[in-house]
Amino acid sequence: MASDRNSDSSLSKVVKTGMLTACLATASVAMTGCSTQKELKVGEKLQRNGKEIVVAGQLYNIDAPVVLWTDTGGYDAYRVEKRFGKYDDSKWDNIKDSIDTPNRYNVRFGRTSQGVWNEEEIEQIRGGGWDLAKLQDKVDQFVYHYDVCGTSEVCFKVLHDMRGLSVHFMLDIDGTIYQTMDLKERAWHAGTSNDRSIGIEIANIGAYSAEALKKDGNALDTWYKWDEDHKTYISIPERLGDGGVKTPDFVGRPFYNDKVKGEVQGGELYQYDLTPEQYDSLIKLTAAISEIFPKIDLVYPTDENGELITKVLPNNGADFQGFVGHYHIAGYKIDPGPAFQWEYVMEEAKKLKEAK
Ligand SMILES: [Zn+2]
Repeated sequence: MASDRNSDSSLSKVVKTGMLTACLATASVAMTGCSTQKELKVGEKLQRNGKEIVVAGQLYNIDAPVVLWTDTGGYDAYRVEKRFGKYDDSKWDNIKDSIDTPNRYNVRFGRTSQGVWNEEEIEQIRGGGWDLAKLQDKVDQFVYHYDVCGTSEVCFKVLHDMRGLSVHFMLDIDGTIYQTMDLKERAWHAGTSNDRSIGIEIANIGAYSAEALKKDGNALDTWYKWDEDHKTYISIPERLGDGGVKTPDFVGRPFYNDKVKGEVQGGELYQYDLTPEQYDSLIKLTAAISEIFPKIDLVYPTDENGELITKVLPNNGADFQGFVGHYHIAGYKIDPGPAFQWEYVMEEAKKLKEAK
């Protein structure tokens, strides 16, 4: 007995010492999961890895590059002034003729007439009372958009400064994800689905009819050029500088070299696909969203043969839970366009979820 106890305790000493060493080695990276951790000093900086999103105030790893609204170079949808232009000209007092309200977001299901919350609950929620469980119960759609702006910088300028709108995420051509507000907020990007959804604007100049592409100076001819090897690349128009793209000298190329042709809302359209960097980040974000929100399964609208539905859903998608395109919930919309690879995104996201 005595010797057993001794050997037990020496074994446990080894294990504990090993754990302590492991904890100290990773202390500056991750402070959780170790029973014996380095004590934090008052005022000590906590490390982030730049791959986290914020959900109800908590950080969740998505393993793709994320710039938060609080980060240097971020886009902050909480601010009331314009993001671009001279500061004095941008102040709310000076722009209120062009934008209806100083806020570009509000409380999910916050109208009493909707009958989701009673007045007491609304008071609690608007006072910071959202918690993850409440959010998980109410959020059941994720909406993919393309931005028809080309880069996320231009997208934020159009949404925030010019239109008084918002979206939770923007995905730039280099795969950088910008989060502009906490997912607990009701962003203004999807009309009838704003209360229940999370949205992302993917940088892409959009999809067009053959007729539209006959015109000189059309969007696809402006934004896409070919190098000597006839490889297509994104050519940001000179007036936009580098388009705010975070990766220096980034050359974006569509996943497929040629335009993709397909139908949306019954009309034939042409579009260049997203970049592989965008798909990589989008797949990771998609997997993470489905992991965090139990009502957002890795499913998208399909018909009885399992084929993608390419038009608006009955009742503007009110009966659908999962991932949708803007065109699934609004009959006048065509984004994210015919090039968007639904099956690829969902299948790769499933692999990531299963690998955990
Ligand atoms: Zn849209």
